[in-house]
Amino acid sequence: MKKVVGFVGWRGMVGSVLLQRLKAENDFNNFYSAFFTTSQLHCASPNVENLETPLLEDAYDLECLIPLDIIVSCQGEKYTKIVYQKLKARGWKGYWVDASSYLRMNNESIIVLDPINLDAIQAGIESGTKAFIGGNCTVSLMLLSLGGLFTQNLIEWVSVSTYQSVSGSGAQSMLDLLKQIGYSYTDISSYLSSKRPILELEREFTKSLKTIDCSKNKIKTPLLGNLLPWIDTPMNNGQTKEEWKGSAETNKILNRKNYIPIDGICVRVPSLRCHSQAFTIKLNSDCSIKEIQSMLASHNPWVRVINNTLEDSIKQLTPLNVTGTLNIPIGRIKKMNFGKKYLSAFSVGDQLLWGAAEPLRRILNILIHQ
Ligand code: NAP
Repeated sequence: MKKVVGFVGWRGMVGSVLLQRLKAENDFNNFYSAFFTTSQLHCASPNVENLETPLLEDAYDLECLIPLDIIVSCQGEKYTKIVYQKLKARGWKGYWVDASSYLRMNNESIIVLDPINLDAIQAGIESGTKAFIGGNCTVSLMLLSLGGLFTQNLIEWVSVSTYQSVSGSGAQSMLDLLKQIGYSYTDISSYLSSKRPILELEREFTKSLKTIDCSKNKIKTPLLGNLLPWIDTPMNNGQTKEEWKGSAETNKILNRKNYIPIDGICVRVPSLRCHSQAFTIKLNSDCSIKEIQSMLASHNPWVRVINNTLEDSIKQLTPLNVTGTLNIPIGRIKKMNFGKKYLSAFSVGDQLLWGAAEPLRRILNILIHQ
């Protein structure tokens, strides 16, 4: 019998990308769907196959949630915090699939990235695990791009510098960046056609950026013409929480006896929805670049090994080239001056697709066949 799946948070950024992917793959044919809201009660549900009810239901109404076989939440931590334990306390036995980080490090949950940890997912389902949580975006994108090396147990440690897009900070931050572009263009457009020296234009542009009022924004400083070397809240060891997740979540997903140290600096940049990452990797053994390229390329169907040339890097290894696709290019692969076991690489991935929605779509497909 077809399962009934409830969707909460489906109109947010992650949720709407998830819906697009479910539609594109005709997944809605395989289950009945019910849609929930925290703000638009009784408005129309999205138009998909096998709708249980034509109108949106209350996402906080446990009586509506309890009959569901699977709940997929892209609503955020606050919602999970309020609803998940209440449902469990009421004896709900369904599967909980979640984009938020609230349950990720919980012992009873599995962080899902099936091209990496399908065995753990299947073992978890067999042993009664009910919570399947999407990983942090940079973690999922790193694991998919370096999957060939992780799988072969070739990595001793990774130092990573991220270049994370503004969509990771939420829809409002994306809008704020677009407004900054419009504001500063309006402010300096008359200078652009003048024949003034370039440093005069630079001064005017910088002055314009510095007058943008960000006091009401989530990101409290302009991102245009800028970057932010800090993402998320501080930990007590000097890391940010985003940097802490890089190590904690990766090791949880890999589930190995040997802990792999991963650390670095996470940086917000003004790209829209692709995260990029520069890796310094200490290998366990001295493999040739050819062997490394072959291991990386054969790990999964989405990774693309890019030649270490200017032409290929600027054509294929950029956020603009990758945005809206499931491709995960990895390039700038070279041995470093530090020694034969030191490797550099650079990867790019759409953080709303493989970084958020796609692992959820795939676990949903696994669960509906249980
Ligand atoms: P979001 O875009 O802010 O959407 C969350 C909810 O806000 C929506 O489901 C909707 O709920 C409500 N909302 C209010 N005004 C809206 C509007 N104008 N348009 C759309 N929705 C509106 O959140 P998100 O970025 O998708 O993130 C959801 C969860 O996924 C978070 O826990 C986040 O940490 C996690 N995550 C995000 C990313 C990312 O790249 N953004 C990546 C990985 C994980 P109602 O319909 O109930 O009002």
